[in-house]
Amino acid sequence: MERLVQSRQARYDRTGRARDEIRYEKKAGKAIEPMIYLDYNASTPMDPAVREAMLPYLGEHFGNPTSSHGVGVPLRSAIDSARGQVASLLGASAGEIFFSSGGTESNNHVVKGVAFALAEKGKHIVTSSVEHPAIKNPCKFLEKLGYEISYVGVDSNGRIDPSEVAGEIRPTTILISIMHANNEVGTIQDIPEISAIAREAGVLLHTDAAQSCGKIETRVDKLGVDFLTIAGHKFYGPQGIGALYIKKGVKLDPLHHGAGHQSGIRAGTEPVAMIVGLGKAAELAEKDSDHSGVAGLRDRLYAGLCDGLGDDVVLLGHPTDRLPNTLCVGFRDRIGGEVMAKCPDVLASTGAACHSGKAKRSATLAAMDIPKAVAFGAVRLSIGRFTNEVEIDEAVGKLVTAAKGAPVHGAS
Ligand code: PLP
Repeated sequence: MERLVQSRQARYDRTGRARDEIRYEKKAGKAIEPMIYLDYNASTPMDPAVREAMLPYLGEHFGNPTSSHGVGVPLRSAIDSARGQVASLLGASAGEIFFSSGGTESNNHVVKGVAFALAEKGKHIVTSSVEHPAIKNPCKFLEKLGYEISYVGVDSNGRIDPSEVAGEIRPTTILISIMHANNEVGTIQDIPEISAIAREAGVLLHTDAAQSCGKIETRVDKLGVDFLTIAGHKFYGPQGIGALYIKKGVKLDPLHHGAGHQSGIRAGTEPVAMIVGLGKAAELAEKDSDHSGVAGLRDRLYAGLCDGLGDDVVLLGHPTDRLPNTLCVGFRDRIGGEVMAKCPDVLASTGAACHSGKAKRSATLAAMDIPKAVAFGAVRLSIGRFTNEVEIDEAVGKLVTAAKGAPVHGAS
């Protein structure tokens, strides 16, 4: 049976910090074939420094952080310092950070918490057609309860025109929720401009920064938002932990009801080790703020694909206003899953679901109106802190061969 193993080699990054290089390998019998992990937008490997920071809280430091005795006190101070680390990354104050189980929970909390808190003011929310299901599905849930949702569209680069957001605002609008960067194509939205519109209209603004946090700057003071979502496993922290920034003085209902943890905003005993890990990931992200190296590797990957495939590879997403680690491409007249099946050692996500031999464009690519001949062949290649040039060059060779060898479909 195939087994994923991680091998590590000590290495120094641009900031001079020693770290492990993580390579994923497939162990099939005795032969070990290297795997090239190009799926950082799905989940990043945990940074070894994050794991180190967490370890004491999985062993010697046990107990409940709300206990006022000797076991609880160090746990509480570990949580406080992690809250400070996250706040520092986001340009917020510590009291504005609420830990959650991740991006899905933070997004649900904002959408439902604002909807319930402001139901008397109105029942209308503005969002976009390219949001993650963790925004779209809570909105659909609210529609069943009588709320109205407006979905603004995007252009062929995946960009929202802020004036379209303005055009959707009504007297009953209580929330605007627009993602900072898209998970599939990496397009970055003009949140400061949307913030100016929201301020003018007196409407609360949320941005889902699950994909942008740690990849570009996500300071709430510069973005001008009332709420911001982050998820630990998207920037080298643990899975199952995230946070919601709530601007001081802004009220929303709790998502679930329980004891008074986190000022009654998010009930539940805090998972100390995970919170410590999130804090460490935030500290590393703040130090590692130069993403030009990752962007260079991403561009090398794209250039290699263009050299090998010419017009048969199409860039999807904004050419410049895009996450530095994200390269979504469409292999023309191919099915993304069929291309990736021909290079199983390259790990990436496809942009089209294929059921019973029939491909379907992802909601994002459909909203961008990407022709099916290109969208069916979409593959999201996302890299990060541990990706190196050798892997990029190997991936180029494997992807070019796979795309050339994959069945040609005259999709229309
Ligand atoms: N929002 C965006 C933009 C995402 O990409 C994801 C995960 O892929 C989520 C929210 C959900 O985050 P989590 O996996 O932490 O629940």
